[in-house]
Amino acid sequence: MAAPRENDLTEKRVLITGGAGFVGSHLCEALLARGDEVLCVDNFYTGQRRNVAHLMGDPRFEVMRHDVCFPLHVEVDEIYNLACPASPVHYQSDPVQTTKTSVLGALNMLGLAKRLKVPVLQASTSECYGDPSVHPQPETYWGHVNPIGPRSCYDEGKRCAETLFFDYHRQHGVDIKVARIFNTYGPRMHPDDGRVVSNFIVQALKGEDITLYGDGSQTRSFCFVDDLVDGLMRLMATPRGVTGPVNLGNPGEFTIQQLAHTVVEMTGTRSRLVHRPLPQDDPRQRRPDLARAKAELDWQPTTALKDGLARTIAYFRSLLDLQDAPPMR
Ligand code: NAD
Ligand code: UDP
Ligand code: UDP
Repeated sequence: MAAPRENDLTEKRVLITGGAGFVGSHLCEALLARGDEVLCVDNFYTGQRRNVAHLMGDPRFEVMRHDVCFPLHVEVDEIYNLACPASPVHYQSDPVQTTKTSVLGALNMLGLAKRLKVPVLQASTSECYGDPSVHPQPETYWGHVNPIGPRSCYDEGKRCAETLFFDYHRQHGVDIKVARIFNTYGPRMHPDDGRVVSNFIVQALKGEDITLYGDGSQTRSFCFVDDLVDGLMRLMATPRGVTGPVNLGNPGEFTIQQLAHTVVEMTGTRSRLVHRPLPQDDPRQRRPDLARAKAELDWQPTTALKDGLARTIAYFRSLLDLQDAPPMR
């Protein structure tokens, strides 16, 4: 059974795995602001206590150190499963652990949701589409994924997690919600995590070379984290039977070169643009088809790239002013 509620009938007890990470910490904040109780479960592989330090004084917030590869027995009303390193540098540094986190983490959260009879949301990814041959990508596209390359631990791990979600739904009637998240950025990205937005901003603010992989003509669509969190909460609030998968992202598509120029212009840096080899299997293009998100969630992102970048630059500026970021873990 779901957790008994102590006094407020509208209050929910919500589990967020990966809650100390970039996206998870914003979700913790938004749910607490709405009045929910939040249980943040994280093994701090890429997440950090400082991401949720400002929430620690709230009696409705609790942090538990736990690896989702192992069973978890708690009592909650809703589960958001976000635990998984998301940046290529991190998910490739221990690829076996990445697959285990995606697959065993999904299995354990589905087992928990089945026992409690509560909805469970999976943070899936646009990486399920691989290097797409259909553009923009609708949810009906099955993808173009290399199963044996350096990105496969993440892509195939997330695809297998989706399989488990839909099998638990069909076989055990679990109320599932699957979000395919496209590149998301914002405050609390880790300065060393290697993703393009954080790399470019940190390089620009430090006056270091800005590293374009390949010729920079590959494209991505960048979603500001507040918009994503709104989409995730709307998906969780849908009636039983709305399962997704549903794309969540921003339809504005930019080349990596355009992003670099925008960051240079907005920071006023003297950094030079330099080219580095393109990583293997790096997708050429990516943009979400948002028709389903609009129809089923009445959702679309509202933050323009420049507005989101301004807030992210301000975050990194104050972070770098305060200290040299501590090493990961
Ligand atoms: P992140 O690395 O900042 O956060 C992931 C969190 O999961 C971290 O706090 C980490 O410590 C935790 N974690 C990792 N392995 C764990 C384990 N075995 N047990 C418990 N906790 C574990 O990444 P993020 O950007 O916040 O991504 C959150 C989720 O959203 C991930 O599942 C990711 O795959 C998905 N996603 C993110 C993006 C994006 O652009 N940020 C895009 C697509 C999908
Ligand atoms: N599980 C969990 N918490 C629970 C219930 C289950 O972590 O409250 C785990 C369980 O240990 C198992 C997985 O979820 O590894 C799948 O559980 P399920 O009951 O579906 O399968 P079974 O335990 O029969 O293999
Ligand atoms: N990229 C880049 N320079 C960097 C980091 C990334 O040119 O310093 C490129 C990368 O090759 C990819 C794009 O930016 O084409 C987005 O990379 P990221 O790791 O942020 O996300 P993903 O590849 O998972 O979409």
